Amino acid sequence: MAELENMHDNEIKKSHLPSDLDLRVKTLETLLTEKGLIDPETLDALVDTYENKIGPRNGAKVVARAWVDETFKLLIKENCSKVIKEEFGFKGRQGEHIIAVENTPKIHNVVVCTLCSCYPWTVLGLPPTWYKSAPYRARIVQEPRSVLAEFGTIIPKEKEIRVWDSTSELRYLVIPQRPLGTDDWTEDKLASLVSRNAMIGVSLAEEPPL
Ligand code: FE
Repeated sequence: MAELENMHDNEIKKSHLPSDLDLRVKTLETLLTEKGLIDPETLDALVDTYENKIGPRNGAKVVARAWVDETFKLLIKENCSKVIKEEFGFKGRQGEHIIAVENTPKIHNVVVCTLCSCYPWTVLGLPPTWYKSAPYRARIVQEPRSVLAEFGTIIPKEKEIRVWDSTSELRYLVIPQRPLGTDDWTEDKLASLVSRNAMIGVSLAEEPPL
């Protein structure tokens, strides 16, 4: 993870200048800050909230439902967007066509957008910086096992890793494997084990505390 972030930093240094859009956003932020109209710390807190707190909680609810309801799980593997709109009212930009891909004892799924940063906002909120970085986008396709190991996720050799490339037409939500020892858990409690990274596929669901 730290390695990935370093690579991301190097990539930025290499490309000399931020992209036109990044530059415009940064300029706007600087201007608004100078005029005292916004507080950068508040802005960071807001971004963090959407990246880590509010956003991915929607996805965690969907995963927890899939763990307890086989029919629901089958339906979201066909058309996740339609089902979660009906069941949870989750809808919005960048969530028009999501399908769920399920981790099994034989298959581990991980998601990327090799072209840019397509991401299922409806269920995961804003994408983390590393997801948009060039090293992640290139390396997860070429050497998924080592990239996952950098996230602390060791996938046994005998397990197949499937890398899903998102597009503006199709995005993916990973259903991690349900941890053992959670048979009598409620959906709410199960959702607490599902992190954003587990739904991108770079982590597994958390183990229940002993
Ligand atoms: Fe993209």
